[in-house]
Amino acid sequence: MRSSERSFTQIKDIHRGRPRLGNVVQCGKCDAKKTHWPGSGINPILSKKFFVRLGWAIGKGPRADRCPDCLQNITNPSAATSKPPVKIQEAQKMTASTQDPRKLGRDERRLIFAKLEDVYVDEKTGYAMGWTDQKVADDLGVPRAWVTTIRDENFGSLAANAEVSKDMEELHQIKALVNSGVEFVEKELASLKKAQRQVVAMESRLSKALQ
Ligand SMILES: [Zn+2]
Repeated sequence: MRSSERSFTQIKDIHRGRPRLGNVVQCGKCDAKKTHWPGSGINPILSKKFFVRLGWAIGKGPRADRCPDCLQNITNPSAATSKPPVKIQEAQKMTASTQDPRKLGRDERRLIFAKLEDVYVDEKTGYAMGWTDQKVADDLGVPRAWVTTIRDENFGSLAANAEVSKDMEELHQIKALVNSGVEFVEKELASLKKAQRQVVAMESRLSKALQ
């Protein structure tokens, strides 16, 4: 083989009961791989042709090899760069949908006010059990921001105990997760220890047989 020729990583396997050799190309950019099984006589030139026919770019060294997908992104940069603007558009769409274009009018203000009088206890207690800005908003079909504004301006803040109980709820969820993790590890450890005892027993049986 001339030194200027490209070589590929060779792999072996058994195909229909016979060993065979293949040349593997791996994309230098992503992890894509392709194998050429030449059938008779492994030849890097044939393999190179094979890969090129499949749309690969074969460089001077393995690191310069590119799979068809990565090549597509290089030769057609719009394919690669068109994605971020789409994401931005999506983000804008999402912001638009979470921001209600309606204006907070007198009627809505009155409606929210009446509801808050119903479900907001006082500044010390905050909302009655089970009520939040979000729930009031959902109940009335108005943006949560409106509820937050009116509650803040006319009733009071979210009581400290509401925040604490929210933290407590989250903590309970985390605790449950941790506990189930511990349970899982304990079970695994028990079965590993059992396997360990079996191995030790087998080892002593075998060493006795050897004596
Ligand atoms: Zn690639």
